[in-house]
Amino acid sequence: MSSSSGRCVVVGGGLVGLATAAALSRQRPDVRVTVIDKEPQLAQHQSGRNSGVIHSGVYYTPGSAKATNCRQGRALLLDFAADHGIDMDLCGKVIVATEDSERGPLAEIERRGKANGVAARSIDLAELAELEPHVRGVAALHVPDAGIIDYPAVARTLADAITQAGGTILTDTAVERGEERGDVVRLTTTAGDLEADAVVTCAGLQSDLVARAFGVTDLPLQIVPFRGEYYQLTEDAEQLCRTLIYPVPDPRFPFLGVHLTRHISGRVLAGPNAVLGLAREGYRWRDVDPATLKRLAASPGLRRLASEHWRTGLGEMWRSLNRGAFVKALQKMTPDITTTDLAPYPAGVRAQALYADGSLADDFVFHETARTLHVLNAPSPAATSCLSIGERLGAAVVERLG
Ligand SMILES: Cc1cc2nc3c(=O)[nH]c(=O)nc-3n(C[C@H](O)[C@H](O)[C@H](O)COP(=O)(O)OP(=O)(O)OC[C@H]3O[C@@H](n4cnc5c(N)ncnc54)[C@H](O)[C@@H]3O)c2cc1C
Repeated sequence: MSSSSGRCVVVGGGLVGLATAAALSRQRPDVRVTVIDKEPQLAQHQSGRNSGVIHSGVYYTPGSAKATNCRQGRALLLDFAADHGIDMDLCGKVIVATEDSERGPLAEIERRGKANGVAARSIDLAELAELEPHVRGVAALHVPDAGIIDYPAVARTLADAITQAGGTILTDTAVERGEERGDVVRLTTTAGDLEADAVVTCAGLQSDLVARAFGVTDLPLQIVPFRGEYYQLTEDAEQLCRTLIYPVPDPRFPFLGVHLTRHISGRVLAGPNAVLGLAREGYRWRDVDPATLKRLAASPGLRRLASEHWRTGLGEMWRSLNRGAFVKALQKMTPDITTTDLAPYPAGVRAQALYADGSLADDFVFHETARTLHVLNAPSPAATSCLSIGERLGAAVVERLG
């Protein structure tokens, strides 16, 4: 291969971009790989501000990209953590129905789990009490395949692998524009221009805007930021949760409902809720970005979503503004929890794709042109899935480079 046929730029230094660059460096050591991120440090957005859960794959439609990549990514992640001494704990989780009406959806989750090859099993209330003594419910599923991991350490280890393989990581560098001209992609960045033979964009909360900046103007979707707010339990209250305690999610939304999760640091997190964000990287209520606001106001998809689900949206906002309402949601599963058990904890923001018909994308979404691959929708479980997504995108780049 000539030197000009082996340059790949990966836009975005979150877990998906780093995993893609690391996989490509391994699959084709002769390709010059450059990762570009606009922030001074890597993994500053979704990849560094999530629940830290290794998802099992129990929820996802069998055969979907989420189901396949979650199962494969989980297996790769466990090996990766073992090989590199990254903290993780396969502690398992329980999904708890608190009302009879949730028995059907819980049974559907068990069915999906089985179809996806997940070890998920209905347990009786005595077994639930043994696993999680402070939880109350009418039915429960135990998922021993779920766990927790230190995702920032995964990102650091991937970054080391990229540089050790001869790759370059440019932080503090935002990509402003990309243009495919024949066999070459020209990138305009805040730190100067670059050329590449293939580009992969993994820009998370900016993914639709970055794709547009590369000339993809006919996207059927837009990214909507959903802030996920957390509390951490005070030390005295931590005994209320031993592992991971989840409600039965509302099947109409791709979010899992407010849950209790033991973090790899040992703390217990409560959350995240899902509140419409008014800034793509706005981690507080007061963060409002006029451009985001304008796009949301003009979005037919958001109008449709809001008209159908305004009640749920208002409920999420109410729980965000009112700690008592947040606690009430948790008390359905864990009645002993009180408002004084909750201490502040930093929020995260999910990048969730919304279609013009008002539906939220339920699966990972990719878009490709001759020389560029765009990751457009990679919300949860993309942290769990990152090594699998990276392998696939790396292979797709190899195919393009010939
Ligand atoms: C609250 C919350 C909880 C979650 N919990 C879990 C969980 O427990 N388990 C799980 O598997 N998943 C979880 N997820 C999902 C998971 O964190 C994400 O799916 C995953 O981190 C996505 O990685 P990414 O690399 O695509 O995006 P990001 O981590 O957001 O990375 C995108 C990167 O692109 C960079 N970028 C953007 N625009 C540009 C530009 N123009 N130029 C250069 N760089 C740019 C950004 O700076 C950023 O670093 C959670 C997400 C959230 C928000």
